[in-house]
Amino acid sequence: MAVRTLNEVPAAAFADLPISQEIYDAVADLGWEAPSPIQELALPALLRGEDVVGLAQTGSGKTAGFGIPLIEGIDPDVRGVQALVLVPTRELAIQVAEEIQKLSRYSPVRLAVLTGGAAMGPQLSALRGRTPAQLVVGTPGRILDHLQQGTLRLDSVRYLVLDEADRMLDMGFAPDVTRILGYTPKERQTALFSATMPTAIRGIVSRHMRSPQWLAVKSEAPTVDTVEQVFYNVADRDKTRGLRSIVDAEREPLAIVFRRTQHGAAKLHRQLERDGYKVGVLHGRMTQPQRNRTLDAFRAGKIRILVATNVAARGLDIPDVSHVINYDIPEDVETYVHRIGRTARAGKGGVAATLVGESDIEAFDVIRRALSVQVREEKLSIYA
Ligand code: AMP
Repeated sequence: MAVRTLNEVPAAAFADLPISQEIYDAVADLGWEAPSPIQELALPALLRGEDVVGLAQTGSGKTAGFGIPLIEGIDPDVRGVQALVLVPTRELAIQVAEEIQKLSRYSPVRLAVLTGGAAMGPQLSALRGRTPAQLVVGTPGRILDHLQQGTLRLDSVRYLVLDEADRMLDMGFAPDVTRILGYTPKERQTALFSATMPTAIRGIVSRHMRSPQWLAVKSEAPTVDTVEQVFYNVADRDKTRGLRSIVDAEREPLAIVFRRTQHGAAKLHRQLERDGYKVGVLHGRMTQPQRNRTLDAFRAGKIRILVATNVAARGLDIPDVSHVINYDIPEDVETYVHRIGRTARAGKGGVAATLVGESDIEAFDVIRRALSVQVREEKLSIYA
């Protein structure tokens, strides 16, 4: 499959894009000078009615990338929900809604935000009445609740967006998302945005999308040249001992340890806690206040080891992280680069260590070969 990257399209101005005067004015009010790379790629494709898979992170401007075409596509004369945006968290739903509201300043759309943890009353009134919502932004659980209670119908949906799709899957929303898709018409335009592209997402794309355009923006790769990259061969059953030996060899390490699943993260957290380490855990199932507490303790150095899943640690910018340790190897190069970029922040150095178990050897080889730098092999002291 051909992935279009930014280098293949010329730099555009908003005036070059096929957007309405209303959107153009709203963008000018926001003070945006030029479309971001993902907007430059996604806007024309979506405005042409094509399905789009966008490899893009938060901060890339992806919200406007899918939001502008949604606003442009809403037909004021049609009753019923025409566009649905599924997002993993309530905070993201609110952010997306706010951005769409700003962009639709001169072409108003009626929007409902449907998320869990919020009262039903206002949601119900946004869906009913003389001027019901045309666009719904929400989290899978609550959307499904509304569908099952008959308070939301999706049979006039023409645009569907899955935002931060990898994070939705990581939070266990895959079955809900599939069921929600079943409530929407087959004849619809679908856009999917994700920071990583694990196999499960490729599955969703092939089952639910129609020959999408694949778009990727060369990520502003974290500066990884100040990260010392090492790997250790280890027996799968020795991984926890190996991890402890790496941490114990340092005086005051501040380490993020990556695990692939929430379950794995929780289990390792319990083990290390039992062993007396100052350890915390960060995964997608935690509430925002729980996450904030853990992060505050980590920033303050009260937690020295933070066990995390990829998604929970996305974008973390904590200056003093000395070690990133891949307890489970990352799914792909991109995830590897993203993970190791959590250390060596703010011009400091850092170590990225990967524990390569028997079952990881092949997959880690693929990652190593794709990197432009050497990952040095070291021996664990437990095997000395
Ligand atoms: P997002 O990746 O969609 O969360 O957007 C990141 C931030 O960039 C948001 O605060 C947007 O309002 C802002 N933004 C989006 N597109 C542009 C643009 N073309 N120029 C300047 N800022 C933008």
